[in-house]
Amino acid sequence: MPPYITEFFQRRIGQLLRMVKDHWVRLFFAVVAMVVVAATQVAIPFVLKHVMDDIFVSKDVRMLNLIPLSVIALFLIRGTAMYYQAYLMKYVGEKIIMRLRNRLYNRVQDLPLSFFHKEKTGSLMARITHDVSIVREMISDAMTGLLKDAVMILGLAGYIYVQDWKLAMAATVVLPIAFYPITEFGRRIRRYSTGYQTAMADLSAFLFETFTGNKIVKAFGMEAHEKKRFARKSANLFKHQMKQVIVRALSSPVMDFLGGLGIAFIIWFGGRQVISGTQTVGTFTSFIAAVLLLYDPVRRLSKFNNTIQQGMAAADRVFDIIEHSSDIKQADHPIIVPDCPHRVTFEDVSFAYVADETVLKDIQMDVRPGEILALVGASGGGKTTLVNLIPRFFDVTQGKILIDGMDIRRLSLDSLRRQIAIVTQEPILFNDSVRNNIAYGNRHASDVEIEAAARAAYAHDFVINFPDGYNTLVGELGERLSGGEKQRICIARALLKDAPILILDEATSSLDSESERLVQKALENLMQGRTTFVIAHRLSTVRYADRIVVIDAGRIMEEGNHRDLLDRQGAYFNLCRIQSSKGLAISI
Ligand code: ADP
Ligand code: MG
Repeated sequence: MPPYITEFFQRRIGQLLRMVKDHWVRLFFAVVAMVVVAATQVAIPFVLKHVMDDIFVSKDVRMLNLIPLSVIALFLIRGTAMYYQAYLMKYVGEKIIMRLRNRLYNRVQDLPLSFFHKEKTGSLMARITHDVSIVREMISDAMTGLLKDAVMILGLAGYIYVQDWKLAMAATVVLPIAFYPITEFGRRIRRYSTGYQTAMADLSAFLFETFTGNKIVKAFGMEAHEKKRFARKSANLFKHQMKQVIVRALSSPVMDFLGGLGIAFIIWFGGRQVISGTQTVGTFTSFIAAVLLLYDPVRRLSKFNNTIQQGMAAADRVFDIIEHSSDIKQADHPIIVPDCPHRVTFEDVSFAYVADETVLKDIQMDVRPGEILALVGASGGGKTTLVNLIPRFFDVTQGKILIDGMDIRRLSLDSLRRQIAIVTQEPILFNDSVRNNIAYGNRHASDVEIEAAARAAYAHDFVINFPDGYNTLVGELGERLSGGEKQRICIARALLKDAPILILDEATSSLDSESERLVQKALENLMQGRTTFVIAHRLSTVRYADRIVVIDAGRIMEEGNHRDLLDRQGAYFNLCRIQSSKGLAISI
């Protein structure tokens, strides 16, 4: 066996077979139906033999009636068995694929944020749609076809050997020769297929980017550029596809030619026996018919092998993700965090997204339960990164983060994240109703609660003006929803979650000063009694904070309350001066 077949059997087939196991009842009946189909296939040359010998040669009138009737019965049975075999095998195949697709999606959903930063969205989508469908082709077409053909080949081969083993030997002498092209074609298909699937993922990622970012494409007049880029990727896909087409197109004629060799050999060898009288015309005819029938499934072996190789390449990519281990690991006996105000402590925390590029350095911070901590500083300083460490979107590189004295890596991830409500820098809404977007993470909230949250976030007034009020789909609103409105819906969502730790990452940056002032009040109410991390866009909005921490280049520069920091005339004082000179008035 070539090495790639062993490897393929050991790793991927094993995983796929484990998925087949649950459907063994249907599979069993499918195999029964297959055996019936194969048996009727073998019966065809058998009937032909009697047509020749009994009707044409012996001129038996009784057989003239009996044989056509048995032919009808034969095809009736064959048709029924074919239906059940196809239905049952496809059922199992599709079911396995559905489960594979779900497993893949579940796995991707559970992977850490860093994974989504590394993988392009479009290429992940290609895995779930395109790659899975190639695996489906392999399971529901090739594997099932292979099983059917294997049964048929065994039956027909058995028949010809029983008829005339010497002639059968002659007919099958070409079989070993056929194995070389079968495996060689398969190997190539597998290699080309990997290239094709990579090109496909690349194309999907490109589509995703240029469609979601279409506004920018238009604004910068880059349509022609993107069309050219697409054409290049499309041509690349074509190139990869053609490589496969050539191998697939070649494999049929090559197998055909080998089959032709076999038949020529039989005619020469068997014809001599008939002429010399050691063989009847019927046996010879039925023998040729059996070989012709045999020849189709044998030829298909090559085709199926190609499809299987292609499917294995796709399965590799699918299982690659399923087996992708998460770097955010949950402790063996995770601690459940109770719902109460929490103390959050950073102990010598350092963090790097990529090795050696430290983004946060020696962060030392102790935030009391219910304290409002503001993080300010130039953009790129690491404020977002710092708050992202609290819900473990990323794990610290050094040091530790404690909640009520417990390392967050010892806590149950679920319960940790339940303690945190977050409004992110970019307002993210899903294409669902406004109501469900607000109730996201709190699906059982009542209408009254949802409306109260929306009112507190100053979203209620504009939401009731939507065509369907709270039932309006966000996707339907499209561009009608301004950044500020989106942000207020996101704030309502965080308000409704009602968690003891609140993270506001420039939550009001898209609001105009007037609505910011209103929402600010709502947020201030909300912060009461919660441990709050607020990243400020406008410094005027964090004066009330218990403590202000200035972060620059990943380090804490200064900390204290508004008054003290101003008196100190350091980094905070300078930030305030820059903002007030830009017209973002702040009374000093
Ligand atoms: P701030 O919120 O203060 O503007 P960030 O925390 O967003 O700053 O970014 C801090 C630094 O980390 C920046 O230099 C930024 O380029 C880098 N950074 C942010 N996100 C990532 C990421 N996913 N991968 C690699 N680097 C990142
Ligand atoms: Mg930020």
